Amino acid sequence: MRIVLVGPPGAGKGTQAAFLAKNLSIPHISTGDLFRANISQGTPLGVQAKSYMDDGQLVPDEVTIGMAKDRMEQPDAEGGFLLDGFPRNLSQAEALDEILKADGQQLDAVLDLEVPEDEVVKRIAGRRICRKDGSHVFHATYSPPQTEGVCDTCGGELYQRADDSEETVRTRLEVYHRETEPIIDHYRAQGLVVTISALGSVTDVTGRAMDALKKPAQD
Ligand code: ADP
Repeated sequence: MRIVLVGPPGAGKGTQAAFLAKNLSIPHISTGDLFRANISQGTPLGVQAKSYMDDGQLVPDEVTIGMAKDRMEQPDAEGGFLLDGFPRNLSQAEALDEILKADGQQLDAVLDLEVPEDEVVKRIAGRRICRKDGSHVFHATYSPPQTEGVCDTCGGELYQRADDSEETVRTRLEVYHRETEPIIDHYRAQGLVVTISALGSVTDVTGRAMDALKKPAQD
């Protein structure tokens, strides 16, 4: 399956993507994680991306689209993938359409995670992420690790993302409404969008998502 996951920052895309990718046996491709890996390795791409990310702005398309395309062309993504954080604006969505078309492929679904804005802010403020594996995500209040600051899954150090400060979160939400939401209409016109509520426990949301992916997309 080829799936795109959309939703505001804090909707739980990364958490859900990790479970869904495992259930569906497809790789989880997160442009945010790819940028963060480049930043921690100090690559030129990471240096370029960092200032945009720290401000909550989108990294320019010239950088992002090439990076996403390279990742989608890796052998493990031949049979499908779950895209998390890409596309994030209309020109990226159009570029993805072209990339897929050139290979005679198409998307199966666009899973839209809905969550109220006040919940988003609460979730992000308490979010703690594992340095060893960014898919291991905790919350200071909602899902605290057994030992503060330590990942339950692999023992890695937990940290708060630089762009999770309240001010940057507001910018990211504005960018989401302005740049990313329009892609939902783009995909609705292709009959691909399934919308689910991202409220409730992680397993509830995963269950809802798996059910939704079995049904034909709404139009
Ligand atoms: P979230 O969805 O919680 O905002 P991500 O990890 O997906 O977090 O993204 C973090 C940051 O990485 C974004 O605010 C943006 O600066 C950058 N980024 C990620 N994906 C893209 C993309 N497709 N296009 C441009 N910038 C991106």
